[in-house]
Amino acid sequence: MPLSVAVVGSGPSGFYTVAALLKLVPDAQIDIIERLPTPFGLIRGGVAPDHQKTKNVWRAYDRSAQQENVAYFGNVEVGADVSIDELRGMYDAVVLAVGSPLDRPLGIPGEDKKGVYGAASFVGWYNGHPDFRTLDPDLNIEGAVVIGNGNVAIDCARVLGKTAAEMATTDLSDYAAEAIHGSPLKDIYLCGRRGPGDAKFTNVELREMGELADSAAIVDPAQLETGVPDDLDDRDRRLRERNLETLREFTTKPVEGKKKRIHFLFFASPVEVLGVDRVEAIRMEKTEVKDGRAVGTGEFFEISCGLVIAAIGYSGTRFPGLPFDEKRGTLIHDDGRVGNGVYAVGWIKRGPTGVIGTNKHDGDLAAKQIVEDVKQAKATGRTSLEEHLRSKGARWISYDDWRKIDEAEIANAPEGAPRRKFATVDEMLEVLK
Ligand code: NAP
Repeated sequence: MPLSVAVVGSGPSGFYTVAALLKLVPDAQIDIIERLPTPFGLIRGGVAPDHQKTKNVWRAYDRSAQQENVAYFGNVEVGADVSIDELRGMYDAVVLAVGSPLDRPLGIPGEDKKGVYGAASFVGWYNGHPDFRTLDPDLNIEGAVVIGNGNVAIDCARVLGKTAAEMATTDLSDYAAEAIHGSPLKDIYLCGRRGPGDAKFTNVELREMGELADSAAIVDPAQLETGVPDDLDDRDRRLRERNLETLREFTTKPVEGKKKRIHFLFFASPVEVLGVDRVEAIRMEKTEVKDGRAVGTGEFFEISCGLVIAAIGYSGTRFPGLPFDEKRGTLIHDDGRVGNGVYAVGWIKRGPTGVIGTNKHDGDLAAKQIVEDVKQAKATGRTSLEEHLRSKGARWISYDDWRKIDEAEIANAPEGAPRRKFATVDEMLEVLK
């Protein structure tokens, strides 16, 4: 009997696990279970639509998915259509590769006002993720504030700052393009609670902000006087120093003649969202950095805005019966081993850090652990899952089904764009009728 493994989640960490298993146990039966009809997790729903080259990594995942011993069960929700306990009974091992889909709250008064979104929602909205199709942010606004100094914050600011022509070769969802490019937005504030030397942007992403067609990057030179923190390793130090150089270059570029301004504001921490029902402004406290932490100075200012995006990190979701670390927003595990045949990889294991390739190590390790732990394969695997889903009347999407959806999206693409995404599950299922 071949080893049978269920991999829950079809983003990078799930697919790196599949690839590692295929290498170690070429005859393993591997089933990928995905809540959405569409595969590839954050490659499809997180990576910015104007970063198509980054998205190309799906080709490697596609090769794994097409191996004859690998099956894809899209549109199957673990927790609703099948439980973890049921999967444990059906498979020799269950790998959770479910990421960190939840936004961390800002934890400040007023964050429940209309017009305040976490980045998971906002990014999901512009990327055509079915969970956020109806988010419908009102972009009839002149000011937007993005909180956070990581790559997600920069993605949000850049997607808001680019013109229709700059986005024409992307798969930005059409409804998002209409809202963003029809918006009178003028000022986008990218706010870091610490200094420019502490910002987590990677340099390529930061440099892009100085090359936008109709948005000027604005930096106050006085904020660049602090250096980079002392306690960095060489690689991080070089990255942060390059970031400072890039920010200095921004201060020398002309800002006139551009429709939008992207203001880099450092040493500013959000304290309250102001407005009646909707956000009208955000109150910020000036900070200074002490022992690596942002500390309030007691000096406050307000930024007028109709949109706040909190890009301050993500958290994972709990699964009944599995130990969860609320503070980190991850499963509790021993180097990926959750216990009783369950393994964790990717952000649900490590928290929301690292780049796509960082997940490869998790996949390799989980595959190795599974081989060590499962002395004798004895589970029935796929047949049991299919029987179970049939008995529940679940409509699962096979990999061939996904390829039909993919082809339809590509066929519907506006000229120059890679695809026009279906942003609802119904539209996707309609293709398969
Ligand atoms: P991140 O890099 O951890 O950045 C989070 C930011 O939020 C930090 O600047 C952090 O400041 C700030 N923050 C946290 N809590 C805050 C609070 N209460 N108030 C104000 N600011 C707060 O996370 P991310 O941007 O979500 O990205 C997640 C991962 O995906 C990262 O590894 C990122 O590099 C990766 N990613 C990569 C790309 C790319 O390569 N193009 C694109 C998107 C995402 P402190 O530093 O002070 O904590």
